[in-house]
Amino acid sequence: MKLGLYIKADLENVTDLTPVDNYEWHFKVECGSCHEVDQSWISFNRQDSYDMSGSRGTANLVMRCKFCKRESTAQFEPNAKIQSYQIEQNGKFQKLATFDCRGLELVDFSPRDPWRAKGAESGTPFEDIDLCEGEWAEYDEKSNEPVGISNIEVQFKKEK
Ligand SMILES: [Zn+2]
Repeated sequence: MKLGLYIKADLENVTDLTPVDNYEWHFKVECGSCHEVDQSWISFNRQDSYDMSGSRGTANLVMRCKFCKRESTAQFEPNAKIQSYQIEQNGKFQKLATFDCRGLELVDFSPRDPWRAKGAESGTPFEDIDLCEGEWAEYDEKSNEPVGISNIEVQFKKEK
């Protein structure tokens, strides 16, 4: 199953919000066999791949359901780029990433850190944006404007 991860946010005077290259992605995962949701956050990233049992290849996440013990995997869609969130999208869901999920479903996403963005008019780069509290605020010295990110929401959509 291909799953698109969408986010919605309100950006104030910043745009191109995107996770940094070595970002660690945190999800809640529902087992596709027994449909239990593991209450702990499970993380993986684009750089690391792990062997599936029975040498069926590798995936970015290989896990075993803590309830029914079935193995399941998730993989970043190789052809789908990570998209950045634009200020023009404020208040609308925009796709961030696409995953190929086998035997599991991603059901929640925790944005955490670090993200980067740039001043919408000034182009000032902001690195190390921390969204652990669900929002972020700073000041853009170049444009003399407050910058911020708030009201983040997450949604998953199944793709063909
Ligand atoms: Zn299970």
